Amino acid sequence: MEETAPTITKTTCPYCGVGCGVLATVAADGSVAVRGDPDHPANFGRLCSKGSALAETIDLDGRLLHPEIDGRRAGWDEALDRVAETFSRTIAEHGPGSVAFYVSGQLLNEDYYVANKLMKGFIGTANIDTNSRLCMASSVAGHRRAFGADTVPGSYRDLELADLVVLVGSNLAWCHPVLYQRLAAAKAERPEMKVIVVDPRRTMTADIADQHLAIAPDGDVALFNGLLAHLAEAGALDENYIAEHTTGFAEALAAAWRLDMDGTAAETGLDRASIAEFYRLFATTEKVVTVYSQGVNQSSVGTDKVSAIINCHLATGRIGRPGMGPFSVTGQPNAMGGREVGGLANMLAAHMDIDNAAHRERVQRFWGSPVIASAQGLKAVDMFRAVADGRIKALWIMATNPVDSMPDGDMVETAIRACPFVVVSDVLGATDTVRHAHVKLPAAAWGEKDGTVTNSERRMSRQRPFLPLPGEAKPDWWIVTEVARRMGFAEAFPYASPAEIFAEHAALSAFENDGTRDFDIGTHAGIDAAGFDALAPFQWPARRAGETSADDIRFFAEGGFFTPDRKARLVPVTTTAPARVGEGFPLVLNTGRVRDQWHTMTRTGKSRRLSQHLAEPFVEIHPADAAKYGIADADLVRVTSARGAVVVRALLTSRQREGSVFVPMHWTDQFAADGRVDRLVPPLTDPTSGQPALKHVAVRIARFAAA
Ligand code: SF4
Repeated sequence: MEETAPTITKTTCPYCGVGCGVLATVAADGSVAVRGDPDHPANFGRLCSKGSALAETIDLDGRLLHPEIDGRRAGWDEALDRVAETFSRTIAEHGPGSVAFYVSGQLLNEDYYVANKLMKGFIGTANIDTNSRLCMASSVAGHRRAFGADTVPGSYRDLELADLVVLVGSNLAWCHPVLYQRLAAAKAERPEMKVIVVDPRRTMTADIADQHLAIAPDGDVALFNGLLAHLAEAGALDENYIAEHTTGFAEALAAAWRLDMDGTAAETGLDRASIAEFYRLFATTEKVVTVYSQGVNQSSVGTDKVSAIINCHLATGRIGRPGMGPFSVTGQPNAMGGREVGGLANMLAAHMDIDNAAHRERVQRFWGSPVIASAQGLKAVDMFRAVADGRIKALWIMATNPVDSMPDGDMVETAIRACPFVVVSDVLGATDTVRHAHVKLPAAAWGEKDGTVTNSERRMSRQRPFLPLPGEAKPDWWIVTEVARRMGFAEAFPYASPAEIFAEHAALSAFENDGTRDFDIGTHAGIDAAGFDALAPFQWPARRAGETSADDIRFFAEGGFFTPDRKARLVPVTTTAPARVGEGFPLVLNTGRVRDQWHTMTRTGKSRRLSQHLAEPFVEIHPADAAKYGIADADLVRVTSARGAVVVRALLTSRQREGSVFVPMHWTDQFAADGRVDRLVPPLTDPTSGQPALKHVAVRIARFAAA
């Protein structure tokens, strides 16, 4: 008998924002193996521990395989009718503002696009926000106010070309491992390259650092303001670039002078000599990349931190040239795509701005929609507040688990439970969120999904299916399209495939481009199914319409920002680190990721191999703090904030800053009783970006003695 040859599918990893290419091989017996795609420009064949274990996470255990209504199995028609009727009735009775979608960086661009189109163009409110609000909204806000659009100026290659890489609030080694591997390999090849890590914790990333600055929580504005002042004093500014391509420099510098060196040392918690060495290196090195991530973004002053960093690059003209620029890396596989497609409550599709009347008119005309949302909608934290106080009466949650990931998780759970109508479309049937849904809709998972994702360097890649859809699972774009049709919008939602949606997004990006957004993917507007299937990774936005060069595409070396005068804005920032600790709660809690788990472990929790790295939730405590509170290594510890408490294992380490503790974000009550850290975090947000402050929570710790 002839043996069936294994099939190899080129797809993209569904975990972090590095967006590595994956080759998935399905053998004749149906078994799946994965390896890195040597041709993918994000990873060139590499995969990290999570990516390598993907094949261990694709079984059907726990999958939601059939639609359910009120706990009973239902057919698709009945379930879709129920969703469409209830949303339509709620809108008719209470107005468009009474409904909301909470979506996810796990969605593909095509899923995101149709959900955004339905909510903003046909329901007529912008109450659609994504869980990416929790990961990079401050970077989006910082980009928009500096560049006039949310555009990442550089590429991953810049980390390899730089002579100095400054990593701020970024544990690249664990959170973006393949990008870290590329950086570490470049540094090994060119030992003269310097790496500086700015982070309250001495993370594994600091192992390759020439300097680790254990900054006080939220001390970043002071550090980078001090740097701007130093650059001016040291004559390290690019006066020509400032004059020709920016505005606001004098105001930004005046704000930066608020603190002298002693003040900077006091606010950052760093000694003067360390600060001076960092400033000297930055001032004297031309090729500098500043990478920042959740430690910058997840803060009540996150947007100002981003501005403080960008100001230093604009003032030195170090942007958009090989090996230079500010570089925000996103947490999720398609956080970037969600930004571009309009998944945020304050954006329209194709990088257009909801606050801009011309953009609104342009999108509405392209869609031929009866309405267009005229104002920003509810951002994630505010959305769940509105669910709690009854303003939102119908909520659709797609591909995310807010009960275990939002700040004030217990409040979020209570709110969802009390909401009159909750729909959850998801892969799993029993997450802490899904279990409260009135209607559960089984969605396609990684390996079954078909569409595109966009990584942190703006590179769009295909996720291709290599497994059949199990049970009655359906792609997210199909589910939203079917609901839209049943709500009376069939003509505007004619899609039979993700290729058609991709082509429409491409056409919108090119539609009546007015020059302030001189980028588009319009060349893909006419793409057919075969072309979509064959699509190779490409960067967008590009500098010019249709530019899809195999070379890295960078922005702003010659100015050309997306503001009305085409100049960048330096933004004066004077915020100080918020004082949260006090009586009863003397320590700062920082939350974050570990190397081998992803989000709330709904997928990585299936792999035994991944759970071997760190098997249970823990609290990292500096030995001096542990001694103060009578805690020994491996003791059980109760960590208490004003919102709640968790009980986790003590891990004593001098990698932790004294006065701060760290608890990972992954473990839910499903994996570890009382381990769910989101219940400790108050719903405090950055006033500009709406991003919650997940890294600065006042807590106390005590040895836990079981009753
Ligand atoms: Fe996946 Fe990120 Fe690991 Fe790449 S680095 S394999 S995208 S988790």
